[in-house]
Amino acid sequence: MNAIELNKRQFASDNNSGICPEAWEALAEANQGHARGYGDDRWTEKAADLIREVFETDCEVFFVFNGTAANSLSLASLCQSYHSILCHEIAHVETDECGAPEFFSNGTKVLLLSGENGKIDPASIERMVKRRTDIHYPKPRAVSLTQATEVGTVYAPQELNALGETAKKLGLRVHMDGARFANAVASLDVSPSEITWKAGVDVLCFGGTKNGTHVGDAVVFFDRQLAHEFDYRCKQAGQLASKMRFLAAPWVGLLKDGVWLKHAGRANALAHLMNEGLKEIANVKILFPQQANSVFAEFPEEVAEKLRERGWFFYSFIGRGGCRLMCSWDTTEEDVNQFVSDVKELCATSG
Ligand SMILES: *Cc1c(COP(=O)(O)O)cnc(C)c1O
Repeated sequence: MNAIELNKRQFASDNNSGICPEAWEALAEANQGHARGYGDDRWTEKAADLIREVFETDCEVFFVFNGTAANSLSLASLCQSYHSILCHEIAHVETDECGAPEFFSNGTKVLLLSGENGKIDPASIERMVKRRTDIHYPKPRAVSLTQATEVGTVYAPQELNALGETAKKLGLRVHMDGARFANAVASLDVSPSEITWKAGVDVLCFGGTKNGTHVGDAVVFFDRQLAHEFDYRCKQAGQLASKMRFLAAPWVGLLKDGVWLKHAGRANALAHLMNEGLKEIANVKILFPQQANSVFAEFPEEVAEKLRERGWFFYSFIGRGGCRLMCSWDTTEEDVNQFVSDVKELCATSG
């Protein structure tokens, strides 16, 4: 592989992109002189204040290195070891965190729900909770929702309100994995408060990395009581950054003037363009509704192979030939058009 191929923009993941200019600039600004360590600096204060502004509430904010830490530590703070956490069977917390939620909660069991398009619904939560109520069953304590979901769909405000009500009725806390929260907000065009605390979300893991930072996701507690001693939990888990300002500063760059939504909206729009292009091709099957920054498509197997031979890199997650195409803040219209045109050409000559 030559250097140009190595640097080529791909559709493999939104974490394959670099740092966005706004985050980079904020990092450079923060990289002047000395600042106190461990979060006692003006960048961390500013970033937390901006998050409170975005959510229009006095939430408690912590910055950790990545989404796995944010999810597993926040879930651990909601549960005792004899509790259980309900989530979708393809949720990141279940399939992609190497058991970190169970580990950091000292064994809280994760109970899996199925549901269309990567979403769970109130009825399945209720069924799982009421399946058993005796002392031998791990007591359901939290429900974890991914927004946007792992398959690029988005929970609408009404869906979240219904889920929040069910959770409240059943005595469950609501955790939201928002690794792509920005894409969900941009897609729904709602105020962030409406799809979080106003819908009953107690804690949000607000992803920055896939939106354009280098590292650092935010844990946002809307119920401040749940944040009790969370700072100790972060420190013990090795998640208290000593040069915290460099986790916080990129957030200042992102949250100023709605940059986070500009990037997310752009990635969503390019996924839409991809979807529109691919769905017109006879042997391509779109697997899920395109609502955020990804398209899941099934190509004839030899087409997927030839796309890879042409230098395209992407993941096949679902069955044979099911491919995930992910747009980032820096994806261009030309990237999408080139990919679609390659698929079109290969499909025309295949089979
Ligand atoms: C990327 C991602 C995360 C965070 O993953 P890290 O690699 O630990 O930062 C969490 N949830 C979802 C749905 C993701 O896509």
